[in-house]
Amino acid sequence: MNNLDKLITLFESFPGVGARQAKRFAFHVLTMNDVDVADLSQLIATIKSSVVECDSCHRFFSKNGGDASLCSICSASNREHDRLLVVERDSDIQAIERAGVYNGLYFVLGGTVPLLRSADNEKLRAGALKATVQARLPEGLSEIILGFSINPDGENTARFIESVLNPILTESPVKISHLGRGLSTGSELEYADAETLKNALKNRY
Ligand SMILES: [Zn+2]
Repeated sequence: MNNLDKLITLFESFPGVGARQAKRFAFHVLTMNDVDVADLSQLIATIKSSVVECDSCHRFFSKNGGDASLCSICSASNREHDRLLVVERDSDIQAIERAGVYNGLYFVLGGTVPLLRSADNEKLRAGALKATVQARLPEGLSEIILGFSINPDGENTARFIESVLNPILTESPVKISHLGRGLSTGSELEYADAETLKNALKNRY
């Protein structure tokens, strides 16, 4: 396989990128100027050592030369440490932070469990979520909000996470809640506007 074909194959492995688009990306790289190509390859080569996963919420954050293991949200003393909002992806956090409607902590589950493929729950960070909840319990955690998409996969994931968390919450005052129907059916958190997110949080049940 020549280098161009290798690059096309790598782009094809990206989420949401098909064969045609992968080809366009690769040919685009050939038309970029040398400085941009050097920047791009340098970024790709170093991204995994400069951006790390937070030990508590598991979102990715930029180390900026420091050696912190917790992200700026988890380590902020002015955030409400009694609430934990569990979301599917890092991009959900970005949407909620941008909307400025929530001041608690987060946890990134890493996806959902499709209704018909329950074996996929292996891919989620269920064990890590348990560990984070157990670490937050003595710090006064009182509510875990499940913020998944309003669709069958999201509901299935909520049931799965409840089955994981309920055994460790029996002796605790922590309640599990769900985002309210301010979010319309089928909608994903990531694409919801600020008003919708605010209502979904306000109307949680
Ligand atoms: Zn964090």
